[in-house]
Amino acid sequence: MRQSQLFGKTVREAPKDEISQNAILLSRAGYIDKLMAGVYSYLPLGLKVLSKIKNIVRSEMDAIGGQEILMPALHPREVWDETKRWESLKEIMFQFKGRGGKDLGLGATHEEIVVDIARKRISSYRDLPVYLYQIQDKFRNEPRAKSGLLRGREFSMKDLYSFNQNQHDLEVFYSQATQAYGKIFARCGLQAIVTEASGGAFTSDYSHEFQVATPYGEDEIVVCPAGDFVQNTEICQLKTGDRCPHCGQAVKLVQSIEVGNIFKLGAKYSQDMGLTFADENGKKQEVIMGCYGIGPSRVMGAVVEVYHDDKGIIWPASLAPYQAHLLLLDQQKSALTDQVYQELTQAGCEVLYDDRQESAGIKLNDADLIGLPVKLIIGAKTGEHELEYQLRDNSDQGKLKFDRVADFLNQLYKK
Ligand code: ATP
Ligand code: MG
Repeated sequence: MRQSQLFGKTVREAPKDEISQNAILLSRAGYIDKLMAGVYSYLPLGLKVLSKIKNIVRSEMDAIGGQEILMPALHPREVWDETKRWESLKEIMFQFKGRGGKDLGLGATHEEIVVDIARKRISSYRDLPVYLYQIQDKFRNEPRAKSGLLRGREFSMKDLYSFNQNQHDLEVFYSQATQAYGKIFARCGLQAIVTEASGGAFTSDYSHEFQVATPYGEDEIVVCPAGDFVQNTEICQLKTGDRCPHCGQAVKLVQSIEVGNIFKLGAKYSQDMGLTFADENGKKQEVIMGCYGIGPSRVMGAVVEVYHDDKGIIWPASLAPYQAHLLLLDQQKSALTDQVYQELTQAGCEVLYDDRQESAGIKLNDADLIGLPVKLIIGAKTGEHELEYQLRDNSDQGKLKFDRVADFLNQLYKK
């Protein structure tokens, strides 16, 4: 992509009311555009990152037997009344009237909708297990939408729902899902800590949150350094220095961001909505459910919170919108640099090529702000048939002959 053609220029100032690093950097670098508090558009660079996250999530959900569907965002009240959640979620759910005074709501979550689909199609033990997921925008009337992509009022969520014959099968799938979540976050460059949290209203068990430690996080978790105890402070009274209930070591309180949350729902929705199956003896049983959420847009914000410096974003290779930033710093070499760009593109490398008529200083600053993992620089001082590379995380720099660049990028991206 030629940067002279790229829609979404870098800007010096983020919108005045943005206070979080993710919103400031993503706005300044031209990834997102704020429409109102907690509501953002994704510009070409931003959409590429979001899509990469969604595709990682998709591949790991498919790997544990998930089947992708897409449910509507616009819901009738009646299905929500079956679980009494039209009333109990009225603070958080956008609810309004449609034609003829009909009550409608925007999906804040989708248990009621997926159970409605499932009860029309599941009748026998032969129909189970089934694992359905979607990646879709959710709507929540969040009271404090001030953290950029971390807390949207419209935001992206992957929600998977598991349907099993019994509690044992749910437990088995639940632990597969836990592993899959670990892989997703690792592939996104995040170290997610599995944390016990409240199980929600319907089960005595804990739910499990995936928390990323960062000072900007809105959550607080109690962590034992031995790794045998982690709980959200919403269910745990311990303070820094108190003894771990398992091993006696001193625990620590850590600020963190919840990037995923998985729940055992048991028979709650099946009971309320009549989702049953005939077992092998023909006896009617309730389907046992679980639900598994991840916010791709929140993951994008969390990655920026973790990976940035005072110059800009530092994308992990797996999420960067382009593999490399080719910088033409000496206009005398523009024909030569055009050729390098074409060759790399033909070799299948995704390159953002700063071909603009701007000073070297502006180009280098913009490249740092945008944060691609490697800069490929062609300037007055670079020798013939070679360019200079610099990794954005400052871990390496040096010179490369033109015919080595594609291999170099392939190596970098294999890691
Ligand atoms: P929080 O406690 O942060 O409000 P939650 O527990 O209500 O989140 P869940 O219903 O568990 O959220 O949603 C599953 C996942 O969706 C979360 O782990 C998070 O990644 C994402 N998510 C939830 N709310 C938001 C939001 N307002 N903006 C962006 N992502 C969100
Ligand atoms: Mg949660």
